Amino acid sequence: MQIIAQCPKCTYNWLLSEDAADRRIKCPKCRKLFKVPKLSDVPKAVRAIKNAKGTIYVDQNGKTYG
Ligand SMILES: [Zn+2]
Repeated sequence: MQIIAQCPKCTYNWLLSEDAADRRIKCPKCRKLFKVPKLSDVPKAVRAIKNAKGTIYVDQNGKTYG
């Protein structure tokens, strides 16, 4: 399971391990530090994980994509 994080500043997307959830990460492009929400705070993402085991886009506000 992987997460695609979206930088809230430059909207750059990149792949992270699900281990990155609930941790602060730095955007590789613009170096902005932002927090990846806990997956438990993102019910829609959790549902998608169970259904698809695919890749989830998630942003700082817990919005998910894909
Ligand atoms: Zn960025």
